[in-house]
Order: sequence, then structure tokens, then C-alpha cells
Amino acid sequence: MKNALLLTYGRLTMSVSLEFLSAYFGVIVGGAVSFMGSEEEICTCLVSFIITTIAVSVSVTESLPLPWQPPKEIANKLHQDPDTKTQASDDFGHIIHQTPLAVLYPDSIFDIASLINFSNSLPTPFTISSRGNGHSVRGQAMAHNGVVINMTQLAKNGTRIVVSQGKAPFYADVGAEQLWIDVLHATLEHGLAPRSWTDYLYLTVGGTLSNAGISGQTFKFGPQISNLNEIDVLTGKGEFFTCSTEKNSGLFYSALGGLGQFGIITRARILLQPAPNRVKWVHLFYNNFSTFSGDQERLITVEKNNGADYVEGQLLLNQLPLDLSFYPIKDRPRISSLVKKEGIIYIIELVKHYTDETKEAMEKVHISSIFQLKISVLKSNVIDQREIKFTEKSRDHVSCCIT
Ligand SMILES: Cc1cc2nc3c(=O)[nH]c(=O)nc-3n(C[C@H](O)[C@H](O)[C@H](O)COP(=O)(O)OP(=O)(O)OC[C@H]3O[C@@H](n4cnc5c(N)ncnc54)[C@H](O)[C@@H]3O)c2cc1C
Repeated sequence: MKNALLLTYGRLTMSVSLEFLSAYFGVIVGGAVSFMGSEEEICTCLVSFIITTIAVSVSVTESLPLPWQPPKEIANKLHQDPDTKTQASDDFGHIIHQTPLAVLYPDSIFDIASLINFSNSLPTPFTISSRGNGHSVRGQAMAHNGVVINMTQLAKNGTRIVVSQGKAPFYADVGAEQLWIDVLHATLEHGLAPRSWTDYLYLTVGGTLSNAGISGQTFKFGPQISNLNEIDVLTGKGEFFTCSTEKNSGLFYSALGGLGQFGIITRARILLQPAPNRVKWVHLFYNNFSTFSGDQERLITVEKNNGADYVEGQLLLNQLPLDLSFYPIKDRPRISSLVKKEGIIYIIELVKHYTDETKEAMEKVHISSIFQLKISVLKSNVIDQREIKFTEKSRDHVSCCIT
């Protein structure tokens, strides 16, 4: 070890920085530590000092060495400390737990290629899994005794979101490690927004493109994987390919929705459209399933230009925990008593885009009359606001789910 001295204690190894040791026990001479006394005395002295000193800052790592010697360029980017490994062996579901040997914190996509090539050079390659924001629920981003790639590390070296400046069709080239919320903010600066979203935006682009990416605009534009021009993929052979419907189309269709099994997506060219200026955001509450689903069908079949811009459905059951974090605080007591009374209620979440110019006209009509809904609505609440507030809504919701 160049920079640290390892003190092995059974299967636990304490890694003490030489700077720390030199301050107490000796001087560092050209990277080596010189002590007064025999090696044994020094070690005994060091160990007892560490045990009796509780306010020192040392990092504790497991002594299990990696079963292989990684290449120089990624060696210090492979983290093995217990905290990092524990984090990588858990996800949003907390159901499956698989511990990796290490987690790679890549500085660039070339570090990822280096890891893949190294694994392939071994007689028995290890498992590699890319992890976005860890919001899978059944261990999809884990790698038992392998290496998990912390994709979000790539975002630490600057934002990889480049919005096209030309004419339509508008698009943005986005690193797969980026969160959708950051894509929203970057594209809105140009008056543009992706056509198809997820409901919750604190997910990575690579993570949702490896699934499908669905939300209230899917009925109109298809899932996120249908709203791309091209992607860059790093395959299991360590090769980079740019793919589209015309170029390397087999890999394009496999990697999208492929749960990382066909390669690691490193960039996506995401289709954009002019962002709406204002939205009318409505929740309609039903106690009858047929009426609810009838209105939903109507909403998604109305002629496109006059139709809804966002439609989602939800049901609330009279059982705990009742998560009402999507709804304005003032409405929650009324919704809660509705659920208690009915046992089950069905909700359509509906959005209509409009502009500052049409604001007055929009305020005069109830949204149900625009779409000729049959609603025997128990209740409806209407929020009128700028688009940005609507698309950002999900953060409160999820922080509430997590706690
Ligand atoms: C609170 C919450 C809300 C959600 N809301 C929605 C929603 O509205 N719409 C929706 O469609 N889904 C939703 N999901 C599901 C979510 O889209 C998936 O779980 C998604 O995979 C999570 O993205 P992530 O960045 O956390 O990916 P991770 O969970 O880290 O990874 C998911 C999968 O993608 C792979 N992967 C990650 N990055 C890459 C990459 N760059 N290249 C190739 N493969 C990669 C991983 O190996 C893994 O198999 C939600 C999940 C939660 C927990």
C-alpha cells in the first residue's frame, strides 16, 4: 500500500492514512514511514492507540481483497468500503439483497469500457451491472460477487445535456446517468420539454429507458423508449455502437427496455417539443368503476389536438397507509373522509395545456365539459398553474413514500 498502512484484525482491516500516522508516530520519507523501535513494538503501540482513541477518523474496510488485480486506470475507482457495498446491495424495494465485490465510480464512459474489457480478459468474467438511481424494486441493478457501476457518478463531471439549437424536430443529447428532473430544467431553458415523461422524475434516463418509461402522456406519444432518435450503447464485448431504427437497429430495439442485459446505454437523443406555457391540472373522483373507465376511454380517444394532454388513473382504498401526498394539503381531509365513506374511490388525473392568452377563457369552463365527460363526480379539484410546477409535483409524493 502506498498511502495507507493496513492493520489486520481478524477479517477487519483498518486503513490508517500515513499522514495521520506520521503526525503521531514518525515522519514520512519518500512515501515510506520511518519509526523508532522494532516493527512488533510499533504495531502493538499503533493498535492499542487506535483502540483507545475514539475520536480519530479512520476508514474501515473489509480485508477481503479483490480476487483479481484491476487495471491501473480504474483501480482506485473501485470502491469496496462496507457502506458503498451495502448501498449497492439494496434498492427501493428492499426485497432482494445481493452484495457486489466492488462498486465502480467511473469518471468517464471509458472507465466502464475498461472494466468490461478487464472482466472479459479473465478466465471467469465477473458480473457487471449498471445502477442508475436504484429505484428498481427487485434487485435488477445488483451484481452478486460482481461489480456495480454507479452511473450517477458520471454526472459529477459536469452536465451531459446538450439541447439542439436548430429547427424542429427538436432534441437533446443526454447522458444516461442524468435525472429526468435535470433534463426538464435544462430543456425548459430553451422553451422545450421531452414529449414523454415518467410520473416521478428523480429516475435516471438509462434506468427508465431500460424499462419503458410510462406516464400520463404515453397514450399520446408512446412510452419514453418510443421518443428517441438514437442511443449510444456499450456492449458486453466492450464495444461502442450508435444505434437507431436505421443503424444497428437490432441493438437499438434490444437495449431499449432491455434491463441492461444487452449493453449499457451511455447517451440518448431525446425528442422534445415546445413546452406548454400553462396547465390546468385536475383530479376527478369517482365511486363507480364503469363510469371512471368510460371517461378514461373517452379522454384517450378524443381527437389529438383538442384532447387531454395528460391522463393517469389511480384508486384509493380505505386501508392504511393512505397516501394523499399528491393532493393539495387543504383537500386531504375531504378526500380522506370520501375514501372512508366509499371504501374505494377511482381518480382520473387530467391535464390540459393552454397559454397565457387563453387563460381567461379557460377559467370560465369546467374541464369535464370540455371533454364531455359523464362524471358523476364525487369531487374534483382544479389546480391552475405553470407547467414547471406540475411536472415537478412528484418530488413531495415520493419523499413521502420513502419515509
Ligand atoms: C417512486 C417510484 C416512482 C416510479 N415512477 C415511475 C413512472 O412514473 N413511470 C415509470 O415508467 N416507471 C416508474 N418507476 C419505475 C422506474 O422507472 C424503474 O424502476 C427505473 O428502472 C428506475 O430508474 P433508476 O434510474 O432508479 O434505475 P435502476 O433501478 O438503478 O436500474 C434499473 C434497471 O436499469 C438498468 N440500467 C440502469 N442504468 C442503465 C444504463 N445506463 N444502461 C442500461 N441499463 C441500465 C439497471 O441495470 C437495472 O436493470 C418508479 C419507481 C419508483 C420507485
